Amino acid sequence: MAVFQRAKIKQARRIVVKVGTKILCGNKGQLNLQRMENLVDDLAALWEKGLDVILVSSGAIGAGVGRLGLARKPRTIPEKQAAAAVGQGILMQHYESFFSPRGITVAQVLLTREDINHRERYLNARHTLQALMRFRAVPIVNENDTVAVEEIRFGDNDTLAALVACLADADLLVLLTDLDGYYTVDPHQHENAQLIKEIAEITPEIETSAGGCGSDLATGGMETKIQAAKISMQAGIPLVIANGMKKGTLSALLQGDSVGTLFIPQEDRMQARKLWIAFGSPVQGRVVVDEGAAAALLKKGKSLLPSGVVSVEGNFSAGNVISIVDPSGKEIARGISNYTSSALQLIKGHKSREIKEILGYHDYDEIVHRDNLTLVING
Ligand code: GLU
Repeated sequence: MAVFQRAKIKQARRIVVKVGTKILCGNKGQLNLQRMENLVDDLAALWEKGLDVILVSSGAIGAGVGRLGLARKPRTIPEKQAAAAVGQGILMQHYESFFSPRGITVAQVLLTREDINHRERYLNARHTLQALMRFRAVPIVNENDTVAVEEIRFGDNDTLAALVACLADADLLVLLTDLDGYYTVDPHQHENAQLIKEIAEITPEIETSAGGCGSDLATGGMETKIQAAKISMQAGIPLVIANGMKKGTLSALLQGDSVGTLFIPQEDRMQARKLWIAFGSPVQGRVVVDEGAAAALLKKGKSLLPSGVVSVEGNFSAGNVISIVDPSGKEIARGISNYTSSALQLIKGHKSREIKEILGYHDYDEIVHRDNLTLVING
């Protein structure tokens, strides 16, 4: 397994940068235009060097709150959606006014969870981003807050940014926030907080100490950044949490300077199809496999056969993504099932050659073929 070195960041050709509400908006939702312009300067410098740049920008709800003169972030979904509808246009108007004098065209891309969940829509979004890259436009992505109700929400832009990085085959994902990176404890509250420069594995300790959100209008905080890092690391995309309050952060990072916290990707780039299986698609069911099958998947990269399946949970169709768990209940892989859950109930524990006799048909030997299977590394 190739070990990722910080110096490799210099070779990044396509970068996704996410900027949080805390950087763009004050506590009452007033946009900080100076900071926005600094950010655009930094992004433009990368673009001028020939890099493909995708910006994931929060701040729609925040800016809407500011424009509507609301006392605080609305609590109800319709009000949040209304604030986003007001704020998203304002955001784009400012981005346009900062990017265009630099000769850069911007494009608004608003996504919901469903655009990622459904393979066809996922491919559509991917093709659109690719076309924008060919035009050398800078896509400015946000969640489509105006239509996204709970079931179809990403919920936070850190996760959205990680999925966009996968979608766009990015070489680097940078989450800009108001801190220098990931600290051992919250630096706002503890003087002895230490910045961690590099993280190669997300331990349960890192996950639990990552709480806290820190601003009235912001959504995520460190917790969602760690979730994003999990996706990104598994996808083979390095992720850096860095300070977006300071101008020049991005160029320093791209020069190979030791800026922020680098989350080292765990393996080489995962194929786009496998990425979608791992993160894009909703899981429709679960199969528990025996020790032998678990070892065959994990250690030998084999397909899942019916003989290794102990139990089947949920109702799923052939073609759905299912979760594969070991006897202790730990998820070890996800994959596209070749059989429906009811067929699987009948053939579980049996040899592939018995499928025909049991079901009356035999479409595949495997329940999940290894080409349609993604191991869960950090489960
Ligand atoms: N989509 C939200 C907005 O633009 C932000 C979500 C987040 O900050 O994570 O206001």
